[in-house]
Amino acid sequence: MIGLEIHVQLKTRTKMFCRCANGWGDEPNTRTCPVCLAHPGTLPVPNRQAIEWTIKLGLALGCEIAPRAVFHRKHYVYPDLAKSYQLSQYDEPLCTGGSFVVPGAEGEREIGIVRAHLEEDAAKTIHVGGAAGRIAGADYSLVDFNRGGVPLVEIVTQPDVRSPDEARRFLQLLRQTVVELGISDAEMEKGSLRCDANVSVREVGETGFRTKTELKNMNSFKFVSDGIAAELERQASIYERGDDVVQQTLHYDPSSGEVAPLRSKEYADDYRYFPEPDLVPVEPARELVERLRNEIPEPPGGRIRRLEPDVGFSLASELVSAGRDPLLAPITAHGVDPKAAANFLMNDYTGDGTAAPDPALIAETIKKRRELPPDVYRQAAEAASVGNATAVAELLEQTAITDTGELDRLIDQVVAENESQVAAYRGGKQGVLGFLVGQVMKKTQGKADPRRVNELLRERLDT
Ligand code: ZN
Ligand code: MN
Repeated sequence: MIGLEIHVQLKTRTKMFCRCANGWGDEPNTRTCPVCLAHPGTLPVPNRQAIEWTIKLGLALGCEIAPRAVFHRKHYVYPDLAKSYQLSQYDEPLCTGGSFVVPGAEGEREIGIVRAHLEEDAAKTIHVGGAAGRIAGADYSLVDFNRGGVPLVEIVTQPDVRSPDEARRFLQLLRQTVVELGISDAEMEKGSLRCDANVSVREVGETGFRTKTELKNMNSFKFVSDGIAAELERQASIYERGDDVVQQTLHYDPSSGEVAPLRSKEYADDYRYFPEPDLVPVEPARELVERLRNEIPEPPGGRIRRLEPDVGFSLASELVSAGRDPLLAPITAHGVDPKAAANFLMNDYTGDGTAAPDPALIAETIKKRRELPPDVYRQAAEAASVGNATAVAELLEQTAITDTGELDRLIDQVVAENESQVAAYRGGKQGVLGFLVGQVMKKTQGKADPRRVNELLRERLDT
């Protein structure tokens, strides 16, 4: 039984409650002011854009948007929190009760969304001298307040996720949704998308839930699924030897593949939540909510289902998770088979959004693939990915030597020059064939299809 808790940093121009720039990678402690450093007497002013974007994300997750939402103070003492409380939302969040569809190879899975609320990020602590940047064993810690006060949406799912792989696919589709909404970079390596997981196990047929543990901050899609898998196994083995799982917060260490306790679990009461007296409740106008609802793009789940008949589930899922599915139809419109187009987009496409790809050039490149030497094909794929028509035209002219007469002549030469290898091959040493193919390819300066050369050489030597 897996429930996920995801934090998404919004890419608003300024922070959640002050005018400081919201940026990544600046000199430490240069994006601060009396508000986000919690000087006495300062007052928070909420960021309108952040509220609108949270509503938008809530709508994309099928949530109800509350007519009245309240910011609460969540208290804890830590060096990354100058006020000693985080402005967050408690029992009156902006978005509640949604669901998000994750298609699987065997049908749809609907993951319930408990809530999505808006809060401010804490500052970043950097531990120096300890192992792998961890606090344990560190000599000292530094705090960078540039991140302190950046708007953060927290999304909490129901414990509906049933496998580590499903957790990974949920997260990939959620990330793609957030990116398409244009509200966050959602990059796990940079920490603008963070994922925790609540994990418990039970017997097949058992109802109700056993004690859960919380896995913290797994910072890649792979670590999320690996971390959950390790924890599921740990809990199962605890029950199998007759012990009980203890509710606690755990850290997954990808280098050892093991989970280790961070601290015993805290409860809501420990935070002494109370309504922020310096802010009025947020009451989004219904017209605003309806306007934002109209700006929501088609959710990824439906797009995967629509592509599945043409390219199969796993390619459809990969295409949509990578946000490359909109390019598929424009390429197939130029007479390319959907599977070939999908494979190109996942394996050979190199566009990164800096220049527009050209579907017609991509289609031409795919069609000529078999006639091109592999290196030339790769260069053409790259040029088509960024719409460089001149380069593609030049490259597509460099077709491979397909004239069998020409190849036969070169094969004659290679066979004559490498008598001992030819004898070894005929004596049963299959591996030598690769060497001989290489010799022919060298004579063509790489301008032949190695698969064709391989066929012709086999024909020659096997008879
Ligand atoms: Zn500030
Ligand atoms: Mn949070």
